[in-house]
Amino acid sequence: MTEPNQETDTTTSEHPFQAEVNQVLDIVINSLYSHREVFLRELISNSADALDKIRFQAVTDESLLGSEKDLEIQLVPDKSAGTLTIIDTGIGMTRDEVIQNLGTIAHSGSKGFLAALKEKEQGGESVDLIGQFGVGFYASFLVADKVLVRTLAAGDDQTAWRWESEAKGTFHVEPAPEWTTRGTEVKLFLKDDQKDVLEEYQIRQLVQRYSDFVSWPILLEVEREEGEDDDKKTVKKDERINNASALWRRPRREITDEEYEEFYKHVSRDREPPLDTIHFTIEGTTSYTGLIYLPKKAPFDLFDQDKKRGVRLYVKRVMIMEDCEDLVPEYLRFLRGVIDSDDLPLNVSRELLQEDRIVRSIKKTIVTKTLGALEFMAKERADDYAAFWDGFGVVLKEGLHFDFENKETLAKLVRYRSSKSDFTSLTDYVDRMSEDQDTIYYAIGQNRQTVEGSPHIEALKKKDIEVLYMTDPIDEWAVQGLDEFDGKKLASAMKSDLDLDKDRTDEQKAEDDANQERLEDLSERAQKVLEDRVSEVRVSRRLDESPCCLVVPDGGVHAHIERMLRAQGQDLPAQKRILELNPTHPVIERLHLLNANPSESDKVENWFELLYDQALLAEGSPIADPPRFAKRMSDLMTQALESEEEA
Ligand code: ADP
Repeated sequence: MTEPNQETDTTTSEHPFQAEVNQVLDIVINSLYSHREVFLRELISNSADALDKIRFQAVTDESLLGSEKDLEIQLVPDKSAGTLTIIDTGIGMTRDEVIQNLGTIAHSGSKGFLAALKEKEQGGESVDLIGQFGVGFYASFLVADKVLVRTLAAGDDQTAWRWESEAKGTFHVEPAPEWTTRGTEVKLFLKDDQKDVLEEYQIRQLVQRYSDFVSWPILLEVEREEGEDDDKKTVKKDERINNASALWRRPRREITDEEYEEFYKHVSRDREPPLDTIHFTIEGTTSYTGLIYLPKKAPFDLFDQDKKRGVRLYVKRVMIMEDCEDLVPEYLRFLRGVIDSDDLPLNVSRELLQEDRIVRSIKKTIVTKTLGALEFMAKERADDYAAFWDGFGVVLKEGLHFDFENKETLAKLVRYRSSKSDFTSLTDYVDRMSEDQDTIYYAIGQNRQTVEGSPHIEALKKKDIEVLYMTDPIDEWAVQGLDEFDGKKLASAMKSDLDLDKDRTDEQKAEDDANQERLEDLSERAQKVLEDRVSEVRVSRRLDESPCCLVVPDGGVHAHIERMLRAQGQDLPAQKRILELNPTHPVIERLHLLNANPSESDKVENWFELLYDQALLAEGSPIADPPRFAKRMSDLMTQALESEEEA
């Protein structure tokens, strides 16, 4: 956006909207027209937030309230002018704030969102995505072709500002000396076909449906006839049209599903209903009320580091903080809602919150209640839980690593794909285990396909032992926090310490030892050839159909994760892996013979290079020198074809 120069700073100025705003306006006008009623909710929501803010600031500085002590929202329909005006006595905006707030989009990640939207739109699915994106103030243009804002910020600067736009790419800002009360007025010049929203019953209905939970009075200017027969006159007066008590403080049985839902939309800026609602009151040494929601879909910026997270913190019904991070652990960052404490001081600072005993105790309750609700959902509403997992499973898994205290509960909540199921819990895995199996096996890779086809799990599959497929980047760390479940160890099928011995008969074990001895020379040779990449070569027990595979040494990271960390720019020391050979595979048998024949043993070198690359490909890793690999392949094919011809 081009900033106006100093000269125009305090006078009239014209500004272009930020490009993203134009896109949002486009969506509003072209895709959301069938949801026009949301405009009022969005504007009332903004007013309620502005009132929350002034009330909070007035806690420390009462003088900010000035003569405007009534904190409320007023709706004024004017049929003759064709306007609907929403006025609040909230915090107001300075000139800079007006330009910033009503000319740009502050939500981080909005660019990415809009790009995704464009892509989807071409596939005709836009409305679904828009649901995640609060269009806020810009929803005014659903019903209005011109919007006028007048606002005066709380504080010393007593200049009021007027903002005006017809949503045609620009907006206009100038001083508004005639506006002398603190707060903001939004005047909507209604489109010709939208004037029905001026009807009293329409406004009442919209407020009741979408904004009844707002804890500030919403007043509607109505016309009433007063006096007796001859003396009748029409007077205008304000009637309160909402309940105006904090929703979370009302008894649960008195709150309807719709009210819970609308309040969720207010605090989350999500337009879809929540997946679950947790409403609780704790009374005792510390008292507080919580109204916590689980969203249905992951927001597009779930992994955005800068995104504000956390729930709203109120102290005795005064909003202290919109995004209180200290109340929810990182792995539950998708939670939305409100905590209202009776005991915290009203002037509590962010720094103090971090160390506060009460905050810690509230956080603990939020975690316990949320995990409890998820356990219940997993049992009773399997489809909902699957949907939850789809959106937030990756985030919840972080808890396995970081939340030692709740590890056991979290372990019951995680789900994986496996060689036997598309969606399994560890409990179900254990139920399917045979009696002599004492370990839960897993394999880590980029996606189901590569893990499923990876050589490492061949022997397990052959024995009909289930393998969990861990394909989320977080899995490597998450599973480290989980070395055991229900008394069963968890082990990676890709790590060197995989102990399959216990499943082998004495006869098999003797055979293994014999193989190890027989292939001693060959292993040594391979080790020499691949010295710079491989720390050890040994005979394998985990292979069935493949000639070899690469396994992770004790304490090492899986190849897929190693690659990812490097891609993120982390400087990792090169990790050498262990090459395991399948003693019964014909390729290994032949190589063994070739190696024993001094005149041919040079070829062995080439074969091992090829085998090494092939092991990488089989597990889904890239190879270092594809042209060389291709050359070796074609040489090999030539040889094979020639010998076929000879035969
Ligand atoms: P959102 O409310 O999701 O942040 P909006 O587009 O609705 O997005 O509003 C942008 C910003 O404009 C708000 O965050 C707030 O800072 C400011 N704002 C909007 N309406 C008001 C109001 N009535 N009083 C004070 N500030 C407001």
